[in-house]
Amino acid sequence: MSVSTAAADQTVCCDISGHLPVLGREVTVPLVTGGEVTYAALDYAASAPALQRVWDDVAAYAPYYGSVHRGAGYLSQLSTDLFENARRTVAEFLDCRDGDQVVFTRSTTDSLNLLAAALPADCQVFVFETEHHASLLPWRDARVTYLNAPRTPQQAVETLERALAGRDPHGPALVCVTGASNVTGELWPVRELAAAAHAHGARIVLDAAQLAPHHPVSVRELDVDWVAFSGHKLYAPFGSGVLAGRADWLRAAEPYLAGGGASRKVTRRTDGGVDVEWHESAARHEAGSPNVIGAYSIASACKALTEAGYDNLVAREQQLIGTVRAGLAEVPEVRVLSLFGDDAPRVGVISFVVEGWNSSHFAAALSAEYGIGVRDGLFCAHPLVRTLLGSDPQVQGECGAPEAAPGEKSLNAIRVSFGAGT
Ligand code: PLP
Repeated sequence: MSVSTAAADQTVCCDISGHLPVLGREVTVPLVTGGEVTYAALDYAASAPALQRVWDDVAAYAPYYGSVHRGAGYLSQLSTDLFENARRTVAEFLDCRDGDQVVFTRSTTDSLNLLAAALPADCQVFVFETEHHASLLPWRDARVTYLNAPRTPQQAVETLERALAGRDPHGPALVCVTGASNVTGELWPVRELAAAAHAHGARIVLDAAQLAPHHPVSVRELDVDWVAFSGHKLYAPFGSGVLAGRADWLRAAEPYLAGGGASRKVTRRTDGGVDVEWHESAARHEAGSPNVIGAYSIASACKALTEAGYDNLVAREQQLIGTVRAGLAEVPEVRVLSLFGDDAPRVGVISFVVEGWNSSHFAAALSAEYGIGVRDGLFCAHPLVRTLLGSDPQVQGECGAPEAAPGEKSLNAIRVSFGAGT
């Protein structure tokens, strides 16, 4: 498929009542049926288009950027200031507590792997099988308990409480939970899960990759110990993410990456070896030259979302959800996937199957015949999607497209996702 993007098309075309304009390049795609159509991206849960405001901020800064924490020159000082200000902006955006650290990472996956590498010895980890693989898989060296899929938010809390009740309350433990599912869009009872974790002496990390673009996230109000999210789902470009929260475990851990920037002092020993003093600040886990443009663009997106006002954004998005769900309900062959039921509060992420259709073929047809970009597959949440489809857990297949024979049950699903910038 060829995609044409004319420079003249660099206009703001997607604007929700002026609240959150995304960079509106009208991308024209050819259709198999002939002719061309303006591409409709309905795959925000994978990556949301960056905001016009973010690109403008990055473009204004681009001629001036220099190395962070590594130069005496003016541009290096400027970049260091911008990088550290970005950290403060993110801390404010997340309503962090005094003393919390904001570590810039590459993504949510990177943030959760960082935390996994920083767990104290003998830490137990509790995670629902319904999580995205970024939350499900990083804990391999810990003692992990995988919790069965709950069918109501209340059941989620009860399941966690039961699991935690059996543990030694004096040993370290971590609960990892998503704020909003990347498959069903359903909101999880984060505050209640945090209360349950803390009541049993455990800590909790919130995977806010899908929540933060749609709802305000307050570390204080939710009372979570850490939050992880990705820039590219929060209307910033790729390549940057955040882990924010309690400093103690991060400070006590070996640096996630060893190298310059993380080390405060390095000396040769008389025996020929090397002694290292590591930083105790967030820099401990940010070795190497930091991604200043990534951090700056996340901060810019945080400001844009805050200024647009989440109340407005949520209201607009809920309208869109209502429209899409009503449309899907008119098609008898469509089955929308849900863990907590139709009335559960949700964000703009909707997965479904269409009876008689292989989901991959259906998604390909939406693209080829209508220019609509959705996602098909198991959405990097294989156990959850298989539970929702009622399919055999042994069925193989990546996020791509396991084949169902004609007339057979779908082995994967179709996902439409959107946000306040749609
Ligand atoms: N968590 C959730 C809920 C997600 O939806 C995703 C990505 O889809 C991730 C984590 C991983 O994010 P990233 O790929 O940016 O690391």
